Amino acid sequence: MSVRTRFAPSPTGYLHVGGARTALFSYLFARKHGGQFVLRIEDTDLERSTAESVNAILEGMTWLGLDYDEGPFYQTERFDRYNQVIDELLARGLAYRCDCPKERLDRLREDRMARRLKPRYDGHCRGNAVDPDRPHVIRFKNPEEDVVVVDDMIRGRVVFSNAELDDLIIRRSDGAPTYNLTVVVDDADMAITHVIRGDDHLNNTPRQINILRALGHEPPRYAHLPMILGGDGTRLSKRHGAVSVVAYRDHGYLPEALLNYLVRLGWSHGDQEIFSVEEMIELFDIGAVNKAAASFDTDKLDWLNQQYLQRADPARIARLLSPHMGRLEIDPSSGPDLVDVVKAQAARAKTLTELAEISAFVYRDFEAFDEVSAKKHLRPVAREGLERLRAAFELMAYEDWTADGLRHVVEGVAEELGTNMGKVAQPLRVAIVGRAASPGIDETLMLVGKDATLRRIDTALAFIAARAGTE
Ligand code: GLU
Repeated sequence: MSVRTRFAPSPTGYLHVGGARTALFSYLFARKHGGQFVLRIEDTDLERSTAESVNAILEGMTWLGLDYDEGPFYQTERFDRYNQVIDELLARGLAYRCDCPKERLDRLREDRMARRLKPRYDGHCRGNAVDPDRPHVIRFKNPEEDVVVVDDMIRGRVVFSNAELDDLIIRRSDGAPTYNLTVVVDDADMAITHVIRGDDHLNNTPRQINILRALGHEPPRYAHLPMILGGDGTRLSKRHGAVSVVAYRDHGYLPEALLNYLVRLGWSHGDQEIFSVEEMIELFDIGAVNKAAASFDTDKLDWLNQQYLQRADPARIARLLSPHMGRLEIDPSSGPDLVDVVKAQAARAKTLTELAEISAFVYRDFEAFDEVSAKKHLRPVAREGLERLRAAFELMAYEDWTADGLRHVVEGVAEELGTNMGKVAQPLRVAIVGRAASPGIDETLMLVGKDATLRRIDTALAFIAARAGTE
């Protein structure tokens, strides 16, 4: 039987990091076994589900490259099917109508709580002939004896006693089927062989297995993923910053870096850190997923993103960088080719946003010198070097403004002054970049261009003169 997995988000928000990891693991498991990956939108909660959220989920999956083979299937389009199954369970005596008033259920709950027992319906209506025309819910007749064994692919054997399980409601009084019923019908109809989902669903699993068995289906295998914690040890949530997948895109992360980060949340392969999607598919082993919760670590994500920025095709990075430059109100077509900027700068930034910020100087004059850099390098001793450089640059023809030509000039000035390259190049760097960090001085000069270089040296000289006056 071919492997079939599914990702079944409820569209009540964006695709968050936890959901994306669940989707990734389901995707990898299907791909690894040559099977199919199904997307199912669990939108039966009409009040909380939104079309906007469906779009955000689809957008996140597309951005991450988590292609599904079937779907998206929408549960709201399958109500007839759910009702057909509920009617079948009723007809076979495996479910029953219940019209217990709220007061009775409240009293039952309070009574059990007072006795420190889990709230649980007592099966009062099991034998009653409830009038179908009066308001009622439908409950599944859960087996009363025995245990349900979940042989979880991550957590191992988890045993639930049927005595602990409720006769759960499978159709509400308004006629809407409930979560545990719809999941079961879909997993069976969609021939899902492996259910990979968050461990917040583990307690639903024995109930779902019981319904599946009542319907005559062999339950799929289950894998419940441990939760993801934020840096403070509580469950990862909005409080911990950007948890929406699409927000990572907007903050300048590459999809392959986020995927690589996600796959390591609870899974490892020796001490390997970098995985291409092909490698993930080949090496991923659901049985090797850690039982303990995984911790979200932004520094690690940043490190991975930086690795991918360095390795990626500069032309692609330039394309992705362009909107980030736009956000800084820079039009890259007004200056050097963005691909050259990426080649020079990619290793220096953790995100595309940062890459745009540290590359802005190429396209426009910066507003102020970085204080620490200026204090250190734009001092009176630097004046003569800057003046000589300016004079030499001014004499250069535009066509000689090349890395070799520029290096030659800077070396020549250092030699004339009987000093080393750094003593000349650092003040020059601060003068034209605004701070002491940039690619090689020749490359930096080349990207900035002749006119801006002269103009910025003038500004730096004026800065030195003004400071000397106040000292
Ligand atoms: N729709 C459920 C959720 O978003 C997932 C159900 C499942 O995977 O079985 O939490």
